[in-house]
Amino acid sequence: MSGIPKKRAKILALVETDPDTMMAVMDGHGEGDLDHKLMRLTVGIGQLAALLNDAGWTKAHLRKIFGFTTGWLVALGTKRTTDDVLNRISAERDRQQELVISGKLHFNCSYYRVAPKRKLRVLVEELGEVAQECDLLEQSNAGKRPIHSPALIQDELTQVAAVAVAWLEALEAPGGAATIPKGAS
Ligand SMILES: [Mg+2]
Repeated sequence: MSGIPKKRAKILALVETDPDTMMAVMDGHGEGDLDHKLMRLTVGIGQLAALLNDAGWTKAHLRKIFGFTTGWLVALGTKRTTDDVLNRISAERDRQQELVISGKLHFNCSYYRVAPKRKLRVLVEELGEVAQECDLLEQSNAGKRPIHSPALIQDELTQVAAVAVAWLEALEAPGGAATIPKGAS
């Protein structure tokens, strides 16, 4: 993973350095159909939402969300390695950054001055898009819609993972965790 900013690389490496993240990767990679994994991811994001103003818990849950989605992405790709998945997540982070630079977005979740409640909206929106792609795939498999690519689920999952990584970057910023507002701004 060359050419990746140091702070982001440190977060991506959690899949090999942090026991909780590693366990979440195994969880995401493990047994279960799309709906089961979607339910698990939804629970994880719900737990994050419940303790949104606690920076420590936020960090812990974001690591799990990042790990779970990484494991799920590895499981979905027939020949995909963890490194491939991490490179893809990093490329998605670059894309998010470019959207801000080009003025299409006002912020992304790596901005530590942005309130957690606004970042949650971004994450929940991406979760909803994963759900939508699962639904479209089911309808397509049942012959009720034109053929739908399973790769679209991977795209949306990559976006969920990249949002979690961006948010973790904000919490790693100097003073990032300390500046999370109580009750948000
Ligand atoms: Mg999306």
